[in-house]
Amino acid sequence: MSTFKAPRGTYDLIPPASAAYLAVRDAIAAPLKRSGYGYVETPGFENVELFARGVGESTDIVTKEMYTLTTKGGDQLALRPEGTASVLRAALEANLHKAGNLPVKLWYSGSYYRYERPQKGRYRHFSQVGAEAIGAEDPALDAELIILAHDAYRSLGLRNFRILLNSLGDAACRPAYRAALQDFLRALDLDEDTRRRIEINPLRVLDDKREAVQKQLVGAPVLGDHLCEECKRYHEQVRELLTAEGVAFEDDPKLVRGLDYYTRTTFEFVHDGLGSQSAVGGGGRYDGLSEMIGGPALPSVGWALGVDRTVLALEAEGIELDLPPATSVFAVPLGEEARKVLFGTVAALRRAGVATDFAYGGKGVKAAMKAANRSGARLAVIAGERDLEEGVVQLKDLESGEQTPVPLDGVVEAVRARLG
Ligand code: ATP
Ligand code: MG
Repeated sequence: MSTFKAPRGTYDLIPPASAAYLAVRDAIAAPLKRSGYGYVETPGFENVELFARGVGESTDIVTKEMYTLTTKGGDQLALRPEGTASVLRAALEANLHKAGNLPVKLWYSGSYYRYERPQKGRYRHFSQVGAEAIGAEDPALDAELIILAHDAYRSLGLRNFRILLNSLGDAACRPAYRAALQDFLRALDLDEDTRRRIEINPLRVLDDKREAVQKQLVGAPVLGDHLCEECKRYHEQVRELLTAEGVAFEDDPKLVRGLDYYTRTTFEFVHDGLGSQSAVGGGGRYDGLSEMIGGPALPSVGWALGVDRTVLALEAEGIELDLPPATSVFAVPLGEEARKVLFGTVAALRRAGVATDFAYGGKGVKAAMKAANRSGARLAVIAGERDLEEGVVQLKDLESGEQTPVPLDGVVEAVRARLG
């Protein structure tokens, strides 16, 4: 072991377990790639102000969880705690909203950083795949995103997840609700921090995880009762589109995510096998965010799904992904001449698309065959001096033990035929 360990709240992805993470990222991305979303990659850090404004001064993410740093040049940066603000910044900077048709549809995948209290499913470095549809207000877009996340989870075989859905209203109806909620909250027995939150972002108080707070919230005004006609109609259309596609959801009038410029549709994917870290993903509409970071009005909607928690959800449901074998063929040379020849055979197999590995390190036969078995390969290609004189190699089925000679120049075809 080295003197060093992975920092607290982080962990390494190590083979073979790491393969599931790649597969989860691919599975979440696949429906997006089929639906007109283009890949976007932004820096791992941004100007700290982008998140202060784009995530919000009153959120835990900004006040407690952000990794900030001052560069030698004096810039105030933060490791990205989430993706939406960066992606919107990048789209605005590249003028994507001017170049073509709206909405601009983008997807991303990467590492995110939050200084949280580490526990199972909650890390300081974690991984998300996300999608954003920028610059259009259309209930079909909200429904599309929810359906794509649903389909991604289903394609992984997950069943025990639920979709929680709510509407947060808009600039027309939310202020009246906000005022009513503030009146209700101000009369409660709450700590200093929470009192301040009532003034900055009262909806966020509804999201408080503490039992003592939640008890007092019984009877709080519900946003659903305050929605204007347009928001009601919009939300009804999202619900109808989901229902028509057979995507089940639960109306959750208490679901609030984010801030004052988050609007209308808001949703969360929760998995019932994950204990208290049950949210595997979430998202919603953020019609006011572009203006908050200096852009034009661009109504948008998006989500981010947590890769780490999705992998935990797979474990909770006992799902083994059907992953392609890391190695299908393992080459074992007997002697120096065979080593040179088989090295070429290995390269040829790989170029032909067959996952192939080689007994490196000048191992003896016994150790090499052990390595072949441990690799999980189905076939071994074995060759000694006599084989080479005859122009053949031995193709060994590592399950049955059956061994047959095949011509050296026909190895690729023979292997392909065996692997099917
Ligand atoms: P939570 O309520 O659990 O803190 P969140 O609302 O902060 O979640 P989002 O900002 O919506 O989470 O991020 C989207 C997804 O990213 C979450 O649903 C979760 O799967 C994942 N995620 C967020 N924070 C972490 C973390 N610290 N460790 C692992 N995954 C995380
Ligand atoms: Mg959080």
